Amino acid sequence: MISHLEARAKVIEVARGLHRAPASEELALAEAGGRVLAATVAADRDYPPFHRAARDGFALRAADAAAPGATLTLIGEIKAGDDFPGSVGPGQCVQIMTGAAVPPGADAVVMVEHTQQNASRVTLDRAVSPGQNFVPCGSESRAGQTLLALGARLGYAELALAAQAGAVRLRVTRRPRIAILSTGDEVVELGHQPGPFQIRNSNSVSLAEQSRLAGAEPVPLGNAPDHEGELQRLIERGLAEDILALSGGVSVGRYDLVELVLRRLGAEFFFDAIAIRPGRPAVFGLCRGKPVFGLPGNPVSTMVTFELLAVPAIDILSGTQPRGLPLFRARLAAPVRQKSALTHFLPARVSWEHGQPEVQELPWQGSGDIVALAGANCFLIVPMDHLEMSAGEWVDVLPRRGMI
Ligand code: AMP
Ligand code: MG
Repeated sequence: MISHLEARAKVIEVARGLHRAPASEELALAEAGGRVLAATVAADRDYPPFHRAARDGFALRAADAAAPGATLTLIGEIKAGDDFPGSVGPGQCVQIMTGAAVPPGADAVVMVEHTQQNASRVTLDRAVSPGQNFVPCGSESRAGQTLLALGARLGYAELALAAQAGAVRLRVTRRPRIAILSTGDEVVELGHQPGPFQIRNSNSVSLAEQSRLAGAEPVPLGNAPDHEGELQRLIERGLAEDILALSGGVSVGRYDLVELVLRRLGAEFFFDAIAIRPGRPAVFGLCRGKPVFGLPGNPVSTMVTFELLAVPAIDILSGTQPRGLPLFRARLAAPVRQKSALTHFLPARVSWEHGQPEVQELPWQGSGDIVALAGANCFLIVPMDHLEMSAGEWVDVLPRRGMI
């Protein structure tokens, strides 16, 4: 059985192999957060566009203050945004504010804290060197230079950079559409009263939200009964979208029909089990050119396998590089022990109360227990080659997306 990392690598390889250039659309800057650029953004001018003072102080010629104690004549003031008419001559200085343009003649800015002022005489406590405390024109980027490349994901810094360069609308890729289809005769839709042995369709809800968090557009297809004909009809409908994610029906039960129906539709499978718990029966294939994830129906299994497998496919179909698994390390608050030689993803809470990240496994009833998972902010990872871990050990933690 392959590991979750091998499974992820396979998904990435297959998704890349599709060579599908995503369609694009133009959005207002304020709507483009989280999207992926489909057209580069270039600098409209040099940045900074002028020698920008980095401190409140005095602009001067460094040669006038090569040693501490120099006294200069103050000839004016420049606020941020001002167009100063003159220049700084030998023995002169200009009071300048952070963000203002260093005037011609000056080649350094001295912080106001390092000066004494007496009317129009300014005495400097320290020696000054050229280039001090200002950012030279064009040192961040040159006019015409690409600031944001194709495939860049637009986070807050990227949006600010686009705004700085004067972009008002951005061409971005369309979010991949991911069809979400749950399966199971026992599953009833939200708003309906379940019978005594039925359950509500919570997987379609978590899958839609996980899809959104990962940058895809969920297309809910409801629930398919464990009946080949109806399941096939809904799967074919799902194959009209960019990705199809199914929950349930991939184990070895008599009514687990997902693989069978997909095979009948010509699917090629790359794996049909992963050495993890929860989530072992997850399958991944291509059907009619579309990536298909058959995720186990137990709610926590569905959630874990979506995070591990589907997110990188969404990234690639969005036109960007797949993000890595955002693991970090934390100290175990209490010993952890697992028996099966699988990599375990245990609902856990990480806290920083004692400075260092500390993680604690939460009590849970297994992969159906969303009560436990909703109290968790991460998964504690117990690797298959290290199933017994002591308190104080450093372990890998996978954050629940958006919760840490
Ligand atoms: P399956 O993978 O179809 O064998 O289902 C495994 C477990 O997950 C069963 O207990 C199902 O009742 C439960 N389950 C399946 N689909 C859903 C769903 N859409 N929402 C909540 N639980 C589900
Ligand atoms: Mg089922």
